This record gives sequence, C-alpha cells and structure tokens, in this order.
Amino acid sequence: MQEMIEKKSEKIKRNILLNPGPATTTDSVKMAQIVPDICPREKEFASMMKKMRDDLVRIVHGDPNKYTAVLFCGSGTINIDICLNSLLPAEKKILIINNGAYSTRAAEICAYYNLPYIDLKFPVDELPDLDKIEAILKDNPDIALVHTTHNETGTGILNPIREIGALAHRYGAVFTVDTTSTYAMRPIDIEKENIDFCMASAQKGLMAMTGLSFIVGNTEIIQKSAVYPKRSYYCNLYLQYHFFETTGEMHFTPPVQTIYATRQALDEYFAEGEQAKWERHLSVFEAIHAGLDKLGFRDIIKRELQAGLVVSVKYPEDANWDFEKIHDYCYERGFTIYPGKISTQDTFRLCALGAITAQDIADFFVVFEQALREYHVQIPVYYKEADSQRKAGL
Ligand SMILES: *Cc1c(COP(=O)(O)O)cnc(C)c1O
Repeated sequence: MQEMIEKKSEKIKRNILLNPGPATTTDSVKMAQIVPDICPREKEFASMMKKMRDDLVRIVHGDPNKYTAVLFCGSGTINIDICLNSLLPAEKKILIINNGAYSTRAAEICAYYNLPYIDLKFPVDELPDLDKIEAILKDNPDIALVHTTHNETGTGILNPIREIGALAHRYGAVFTVDTTSTYAMRPIDIEKENIDFCMASAQKGLMAMTGLSFIVGNTEIIQKSAVYPKRSYYCNLYLQYHFFETTGEMHFTPPVQTIYATRQALDEYFAEGEQAKWERHLSVFEAIHAGLDKLGFRDIIKRELQAGLVVSVKYPEDANWDFEKIHDYCYERGFTIYPGKISTQDTFRLCALGAITAQDIADFFVVFEQALREYHVQIPVYYKEADSQRKAGL
C-alpha cells in the first residue's frame, strides 16, 4: 500500500495554474492529505487546529491577545457571507466600497440576507474616492460595518485599505476586508492596515487545497457580536468562534484532509518566508507582464494600481482570437489561463498565485505564442485603438 502511494507521488503531473485560485501546489502539500483515517473529534486533531489558528493570525502579524482566527469548511465566499451576516448589529447598516466583482458579491450577500446596505460603486479600473466614502459615512451615522476587497481579483487593482479603514474607524464602524487574493502573498499587517477582519481560503496564498476558509479578526468584536441578530445557523462567526474556544473543534465536520494539507502548506510558508515568497510572486507577475508586452497585449488596469498578483488583459481585436481555443491549446500542455470578470469588457486573466516561478511563466509564453500562431492570431496582437494612435503619430 505504502509502495503504491509512493509510486503514485512520483507521477503527479505538475500543472501550472494561472487562474486566480486554486493555485499550483507542491507535491509535499498534495501528499500531506494521505494520512491515517482519524476522527476529527480526537484531541490530536484539535491541537493541530489550535496551532493552525495561531499561525493564521501570525501571518498577518496580529497580536495574539487581540486577534483570533476562525476556521470554516467552505470556499472563500463563505467568509464574506459570515462576516457580513454576523457582524452587523440590529438596526445598523453596511457600506460596501465596490469597484469590482468581489465587492459586488458582498453587496449581493447583503441583498440575500435583507441587510440594510449602501453599495458605493466606483469604476472597476479606478481607486475608490475617499472623499465620497467620507461623505457617505458622515450622512449615515447608522453605518456600523464597512467592507471592501483588498486585491479585486476580477481586475487586479489594489485598494487603499489602510485609508478606508481609517475612515471607517473615524466614524465608528467595523472594517472587514476581503483579502482572499492577497493573504499570505502580499505582506499584511492587520493592525497597521486598520483591518478588523480579513479572510482567505487555503487554496489561494497558502497554496493548499480547496475546502478550508478562515477569518482572522478582532476577538473583542467577535465577543460583542454574540448578542447581534443571528441570521444564519451554519454561517455564524460568533457560534463557530465560541465552539472553537470551548471545545477546540469546528462546530460541524471539518475538511480533515484539507486541514492536513494546510498544515504542511503553513510549514512551507514559514520556511519560504514572507518577504521571499512575496518577491517570488512579484517575479512571476513581472514575467507575466514581460511576456504580454512582447506580444503586444494590453492591460485593463494601470500598472501602478495593480496589486502584483493578477493581470487582467484585453482581448485582441483580431477575428482569429478565440479565448476558448487558446485556452484548450495551453491546457493540453499543462497551462491554465482564465477568463475575465469584467462585465463591460472582454478580458482574460493571468495570475501569479501558487507554487510557480518566473521560469514557469517563460515556459508558458512559449506555448502561448505557439497557440497564437496555430490559430493565426496576428503578432504583435492587434487593437484598433492602438492602430489609430500609431497612425496619428506618423
Ligand atoms: C477567490 C476569491 C474569493 C472566493 O471565491 P470562492 O470561489 O468562493 O473560493 C473571494 N474573494 C476574492 C477577492 C477572491 O479572490
């Protein structure tokens, strides 16, 4: 049996995932899921989760006396759901600072729970206007929770959370931030960034498996929320926190094997080191830009506004460009590219998440360029606007 497993491990094909999570994982993380069967109610399992919760706070440099981590079984969206439905006192309102798909998701969650909310929208390629945020906070003293997204994964724009958090706090609101696509990649200091709650799931920055999500946040605020209206049975932050604190366990069945993989991923995270890991992601991001620039592709978001993890690319205006065909060509050769998430423009995305390096990106661009040639897409790629600009310049 052991022999069979070892044989299998030698043969796991390495795919380079350039989608925004789940990310490429190491073989050691994959194999960490193969463990003896265990009932998660055993003390051994609880002590592993306790250490995991402490480590998750440590990643964002949280003072363990002030911050805690609460684990949930689910994909990353469960965190947004839980924060919004659990942290709003009765008769109060939520403000969503929205310049992209993931903040829109937060607004949809408010609508589903019938929570009073203001959806403060900004263009997807621009930073939120702090003066407008402040004006809304001033006019609506009943806003008790401000929520936004750190790196809008739909476009790759990095939002000014420290400034938004300072405003939220000035007006007495709790600040929750969807850090799913920055946590454990771009260094975060929870307190300095004025974050009360941040969140992520194991398959993104931690480079582990799907099925485990976690919220890291202010313990005192969670305790206060014990008396807030209960709007969900399964997805309540205080209930899960309380269960962890009193029993050491998740309220309901945890994703056991995913937790073992996450343990391994955390060890690898600390071994690689916060700064070195961030620099590796940045080198991948720069390699993505270099490859795209060489082929003439254009970004949606100004370079200086990009978070360094997601590149959102405009479709070429070439009749032969067919994203699905290019995707399939690359996929068959071990590289996954991903469609965009902007409703008004046709885009695709290349992301710098996961256990990959700049060399993987160089290898990808060889295949990607072959795909463009195979389908007779003009290189450098063609955009009408660029063409007219070139002509005007002549
Ligand atoms: C990936 C991601 C999520 C979670 O998406 P799921 O499909 O539920 O895993 C949430 N927010 C952001 C910013 C993300 O990048």
